[in-house]
Amino acid sequence: MKGKLFIIGTGPGAPPIRTFRMVEAIKQSDVIVAYTTYAKLIGDLVDGKEVITARMKEELYRARVAIQKVQEGKVVSLISSGDPQVYGMASPALEMMCKNNLELDFEIVPGVTAALAAAARLGSPLAMDFASISLSDLLVPAEEILHRIKKAAEGDFVIVLYNPINKPLLERAMAIISEYRKPETPVGIVKSAYREDEQVIITNLSDWKKHEGVINMITTMIIGNSRTYTCNGKMITPRGYDRRYSFELNNDS
Ligand code: SAH
Repeated sequence: MKGKLFIIGTGPGAPPIRTFRMVEAIKQSDVIVAYTTYAKLIGDLVDGKEVITARMKEELYRARVAIQKVQEGKVVSLISSGDPQVYGMASPALEMMCKNNLELDFEIVPGVTAALAAAARLGSPLAMDFASISLSDLLVPAEEILHRIKKAAEGDFVIVLYNPINKPLLERAMAIISEYRKPETPVGIVKSAYREDEQVIITNLSDWKKHEGVINMITTMIIGNSRTYTCNGKMITPRGYDRRYSFELNNDS
């Protein structure tokens, strides 16, 4: 009996933007290990399987049980929302295998990460270089996070903020970004992308605080770069075609 570990991303929520590989992997699994809320996201796929849930902040517990089950010969799916590599379970699971000198059979199954899901709802804000920064200071000191914010703002990267729920840190981050960008710089706020209670807001650097109520555990924010604008109610970051070509419809270039 040979076990295998699937480290899976469920995508942001709704079944239509799951990957085929993710559904296939869960179907092949004997055991599902997930944070309680994520287990609900895949509830339709887990009938008859052993489901082990754990609370937030128990990532290492989840990685440990998943690995132990694989050692028992089980096929196990370790679940993250979005993509498992982006602030998800892939890195802690690989570290746990590495530090214990375990060479288990494993496969990482990518998923649509919140940045891409949120961006799709907002228009096309990520067409140029972007930086993704998590505002969770549970594992990374706040000062280090704010240092990255400063550098990303200075570098004119579009900035994607994961975990913006930490309001005092969010306010400090937005203040730093505002030192480098105009007050009218578009800011997108997406709550529960691709879930039932989805909310999509496009505001700007001077007004974003009016929408603070939308910012919860499942909200992602995207701050445009110096060239990002809004048109037809969507955020657009120019790729740069306007610098070389014409957008006229009756033009062949
Ligand atoms: N692995 C996940 C990220 C986990 S960190 C991924 O790749 O998407 C948790 C953060 O992800 C949340 O605080 C929020 O910022 C973001 N997030 C997760 N699901 C989301 C959704 N459906 N809509 C908007 N943001 C989401």
